[in-house]
Amino acid sequence: MAISAFDLFSVGIGPSSSHTVGPMRAALMFASGLRAAGDLPRVARVKAQLFGSLGATGHGHGSDRAVLLGLAGERPEDVDTDTVTERVAAIKQAGRLRLLGAHEIAFADTDLVLHRRKALPLHPNGMRFTASDATGQTIAERTYYSIGGGFVLDETAADGPVISADTTPVPHPFRTAAELLAHCADTGLTIAQVMLANELAWRTETEVRAGLLDIWQVMRDCVTAGIARDGVLPGGLKVPRRAKALHDKLLAEDGLDDPLYVLDWVTLYALAVNEENASGGRVVTAPTNGAAGIIPAVLHYYTRFIPTATPEGVVDFLLTAAAIGVVLKETGSISGAEVGCQGEVGSACAMAAAALTAVLGGTPAQVENAAEIGLEHHLGLTCDPVGGLVQIPCIERNAVASAKAINASRLSLRGDGTHMVHLDKVIKTMRQTGADMHTKYKETSRGGLALNVIEC
Ligand code: SF4
Repeated sequence: MAISAFDLFSVGIGPSSSHTVGPMRAALMFASGLRAAGDLPRVARVKAQLFGSLGATGHGHGSDRAVLLGLAGERPEDVDTDTVTERVAAIKQAGRLRLLGAHEIAFADTDLVLHRRKALPLHPNGMRFTASDATGQTIAERTYYSIGGGFVLDETAADGPVISADTTPVPHPFRTAAELLAHCADTGLTIAQVMLANELAWRTETEVRAGLLDIWQVMRDCVTAGIARDGVLPGGLKVPRRAKALHDKLLAEDGLDDPLYVLDWVTLYALAVNEENASGGRVVTAPTNGAAGIIPAVLHYYTRFIPTATPEGVVDFLLTAAAIGVVLKETGSISGAEVGCQGEVGSACAMAAAALTAVLGGTPAQVENAAEIGLEHHLGLTCDPVGGLVQIPCIERNAVASAKAINASRLSLRGDGTHMVHLDKVIKTMRQTGADMHTKYKETSRGGLALNVIEC
């Protein structure tokens, strides 16, 4: 499977790539399949069932709303995030839903079922959609899995269970960090250049550069939106937004006497993104929504505080982060429901650490070292969001991991790239630790902080 930087960095809607973006895409895939088969006009009812982690925490993650919007034909990348609440309320109030915006059917609350204790076999984030005609006869039934980062696996595809896989041949195929480094050694290219050469299998160089700078612009817009809003986050926990107040304070201070003043700005960037994500705003999945603040925070650090920063450096940053993301996705996991938060925040930290190291002049070995440090020190991290909302511990966790990514980068740049533990070994350890991790710590909100923090 070939993974592009634009698969890993996609513009989406908060609060969760696996629980919001993935279900919206799956619902859209199902409705589009009905249309492609010519069945849309005779559909009278659609039943959607969410299983496993999606069923357990779907309400908090907006999975239910995402499914309705996907069936209505919306895509995560361009759905109007400001009108989501009223559109969903209108569907519920009218009891009517327009499939793909074209064919109206009845839709009752009982047509959307979140199974809190049932799971499907292939992945914790299972979904089943069933369409029936006016006589109740089943027209189509399909099962999908949201496997992290907005990627969707179609269990009932004609050729067997597949991720909506892209088999485009690329000049430097790699799955592991060792293979990636071997390409660098063989060609003399940097990691960013290897990734760029692969991206050219889909787009021209001009398109790749412009597309990545667009992604960067969405990240910047997200920070701007996050520091403009005050109040509490939706969902019932009454978690206060902190980015705006912190921004006001930082602007009022000169910070010159505080050697760690810059760190507060990094914290601010991460808080701003993750507060936007928690409120269902427009974010870049990087590589997931829960961990969407880390790469933008570290990239803001680069552009604002590193005097040699350039737009070219921004492109290299995102290409390097994406290359590490490919390795993590291919050989580990970026799904909190599969391996816990080590796969989300740990992966994003590794990607950001590697990317910063690259644009600060690190060798491929130092870049890989930074990624390894960034991931290693998140091993075992559980996913236990309070109330099933991507707020506690997620928002602060992004801020702390952003600082950790900068720390990992600096540590690797102080060395010469030689190190005892290879990134591939850490990823293998993450997978094994995730397999051993109790289900209650994998995005079910049935353990850890989710149990011990009193909900308001
Ligand atoms: S705890 Fe980590 S993995 Fe779980 S929802 Fe929050 S950010 Fe995602």
